[in-house]
Amino acid sequence: MMSAGHRARKRFGQHFLVDDSVIDRIIRAVHPVATDRLIEIGPGLGALTLPLLSRGMSLTLIELDRDLVLRWQAYPAHPPLTVIAQDVLTVDFSQFGQSLRLIGNLPYNISTPFLFHLAADAQRYRDAHFMLQKEVVERMVATPGSRDYGRLSVMLQYHFDMESLMDVEADAFDPPPKVRSAVVRLIPRMVTARPDANFEHLSTLVTTAFAQRRKMLRVSLKNMVSEDDLKQAGIDPTRRAETVSLEEFCRLSLSEGRSENK
Ligand code: SAM
Repeated sequence: MMSAGHRARKRFGQHFLVDDSVIDRIIRAVHPVATDRLIEIGPGLGALTLPLLSRGMSLTLIELDRDLVLRWQAYPAHPPLTVIAQDVLTVDFSQFGQSLRLIGNLPYNISTPFLFHLAADAQRYRDAHFMLQKEVVERMVATPGSRDYGRLSVMLQYHFDMESLMDVEADAFDPPPKVRSAVVRLIPRMVTARPDANFEHLSTLVTTAFAQRRKMLRVSLKNMVSEDDLKQAGIDPTRRAETVSLEEFCRLSLSEGRSENK
């Protein structure tokens, strides 16, 4: 048994999935086929790994907990597993090639930095299915004007189409986390399907605008763009960041008058 003798470690965000119906729904949503380049982040005791292996998948596992790494290195899988003993935040996914499929019940303490890590190289992936804190998934898929809409929504929606697939209650895990969870699917948007933007400026604009999300843009962005820039991008300078769409932020990132010191 993979689980024999392992005690869940809080510092690695270990909450192991134990509900077979949830596991089954995730695997069906992923719909793996043998030719996929599938990478699992944080296999833990194998709640998702073992059903994937039973389908004959060849898998790459990324795991930080040395004890679990040793178990997976010794696991007699056919085809053999590739086990990467590393913090996923430092993994360079280009080593695995293109068209990668990612799956993971992620440690919640690293979810936001990890999502930005992925976004930095979004075209490398075919898709990703992650279990995350429900509150994070709500922010990822939020639309302008909603309470959850913010930097994470805009910056991820620029790169990915995203869909929340299911909510998962805390009792599906051992030990149960304090928060509810949800499974999200991310599919990179084709470069041609994204609005035109100056990405570097987009990133700074969005960060600055949402740092004071309830202030008018002419105030929150006053050091970056003029009121004229805002008007030229079709954005009323008295609006607040939380109402501005991705397309509008992208237009603003291209404004000619934009300057760092205005
Ligand atoms: N997949 C298993 C399941 O569903 O039961 C385990 C999920 S548990 C929430 C998160 C897993 O990620 C654990 O195995 C943990 O050791 C691993 N982990 C934690 N931090 C990590 C990191 N920075 N990089 C890679 N793996 C990590």
